[in-house]
Amino acid sequence: MKYRVRLDLSFDAEADAQSLMNYAKVLASKAVSLNEGTANEEISFCDLEICRHDEGLPCEKLERVEVRKAAL
Ligand SMILES: [Zn+2]
Repeated sequence: MKYRVRLDLSFDAEADAQSLMNYAKVLASKAVSLNEGTANEEISFCDLEICRHDEGLPCEKLERVEVRKAAL
């Protein structure tokens, strides 16, 4: 059993988004992924994106951090 947090927050200020990303990255060091390498794996991750959906354009990924035991 694990305790899991899912969140998706968009900010006006880049600094707020970077602040949350930085905090999440620190805590990610204590996070785990489930069933890694199997068909039902659930990889813990943090994504930082520029969201342009308010302009009718897609999101653009800036950074992704995944919690994995071994680099794949
Ligand atoms: Zn978007």
